[in-house]
Amino acid sequence: MKQLIVVGAGISGLSVAFWAERAGWNVTVLESAEVPGGTMRTVREDGWLVENGPNSALETTPVLWEMFRLLDIGKDHCYADDSSNKRYVLRDGALHPIPLSPGAFLSTSLWSPAGKLRLLKEPFIGRAEKEETIAEFVERRLGREMLDYGINPFVAGVYAGNPEQLSVRSAFPKLYALEEKYGGLIKGMIAGARERRKRAEVAKDRARMFSFVQGMQHFPEAIAGRLAGHIRFSVPVVKIDVAGATPPERSRFRVVGADGAVFDADAVVLSVPAYAAAGLVRPLSPDLASLLLGVYYPPVAEVFLGFRRSQCARPLDGFGYLIPAREKRRILGTIWSSAIFPARAPADHFALTTFVGGSRQPELMQLDDGSLRQLVLEEVHDIMGVTGAPVFSKICRWEKAIPQYNLGYQTVLDAIGRLEMQVPGLYLCSNYRGGIAVGDCVMNGKITAERIAGVSPRA
Ligand SMILES: Cc1cc2nc3c(=O)[nH]c(=O)nc-3n(C[C@H](O)[C@H](O)[C@H](O)COP(=O)(O)OP(=O)(O)OC[C@H]3O[C@@H](n4cnc5c(N)ncnc54)[C@H](O)[C@@H]3O)c2cc1C
Repeated sequence: MKQLIVVGAGISGLSVAFWAERAGWNVTVLESAEVPGGTMRTVREDGWLVENGPNSALETTPVLWEMFRLLDIGKDHCYADDSSNKRYVLRDGALHPIPLSPGAFLSTSLWSPAGKLRLLKEPFIGRAEKEETIAEFVERRLGREMLDYGINPFVAGVYAGNPEQLSVRSAFPKLYALEEKYGGLIKGMIAGARERRKRAEVAKDRARMFSFVQGMQHFPEAIAGRLAGHIRFSVPVVKIDVAGATPPERSRFRVVGADGAVFDADAVVLSVPAYAAAGLVRPLSPDLASLLLGVYYPPVAEVFLGFRRSQCARPLDGFGYLIPAREKRRILGTIWSSAIFPARAPADHFALTTFVGGSRQPELMQLDDGSLRQLVLEEVHDIMGVTGAPVFSKICRWEKAIPQYNLGYQTVLDAIGRLEMQVPGLYLCSNYRGGIAVGDCVMNGKITAERIAGVSPRA
């Protein structure tokens, strides 16, 4: 049986390993940390459930449920409360619900009458002539106000990113495709809905939000449990040697851990962040290594605060709120964690998860924990009317949080493709390629395993 080494036990690497093992490969996963999950990390303490990474994920691909069934964790799966469809955006200091129906759109004060009227021009705007940032794309098609109070906060919520730098083509390929394929967003949405109805598919923006009773890390833990005996923790990989056949033959690999341990393999998947992959591919492609090192991961802090129910008068009737840069606040937004998944706080308490930093304000990460907590308290006091001190708090800092698919990102993706052609049997699969959402990582993990399996593992 042929040997596959997967480097990195985040959700991308574990998904590759899971599917490759089912396809008949002898799989070994090498992970530098002591636990599986990478960014998906859950802490349970004193009745609180704290997510250090993703708070939830969207069911954007059927691969998720295929895995839940095979892992027998469907029973632990939970959907977000129905009220979570309601999301707020801060404007002029007040929280406005994002309108979900045409009537609500017409009556909302989130956008001015002029901003709404500007949308009527959209179908008549032509295609872009050059690669654009999200800001350029949205301002051109929908106007400045939709950028500032529609897309800007959304981009902060998804990427902790800056719409003036992210490439619309690479970071939001579906949005970009509406213009490319149908000539406009409104035309594209109408035609897309018709096509989806024919194929009986559900629109991605209607995908349901889920987690697990035990928290998000339960998913990678379950995959790791299934692969038990085939995962080595505390093994940072420092080198990959290729004993080189020339294409189209497959190369044989020697994967070297920091302690000098050597693992032979017929194929290797790098499922580590871009900056970690850079060091491993440098001997094979110095150009790709420089490009991977250049991928920007802004820092983000997740500040989890727990309060007694009596400390907030307003109803927590939704997902939480996002903050446009123009509002000049010191936080990116707050998730009402225990309103979405009630079991995340003890009875008669509520939990808030607030995001600080990102590409918008990376300098705020210099603050010590006490100042960071105080800053968030002041903001949630001002925005939501929360009173008094929290009864529980936890801060998680990600110095390098989420890869930014900035303008020109296709150059990085093309260079990855070239290396995979040049070194058959080497694959790169992580969230800097093909999407950052958990669902994207899982789907790309399966696709990578299928590419590997396509070369006959049992041969
Ligand atoms: C703060 C935050 C909030 C998020 N919120 C959401 C959300 O709400 N919904 C959503 O869908 N997505 C969210 N995401 C994104 C999503 O969580 C990630 O994109 C996804 O989990 C990345 O998985 P991965 O396996 O590609 O990478 P990672 O999780 O980064 O895993 C990489 C693994 O490689 C290991 N590693 C690194 N170097 C080496 C080495 N040399 N040798 C061996 N192992 C190594 C690391 O220890 C790690 O375990 C969020 C991300 C962050 C940071």
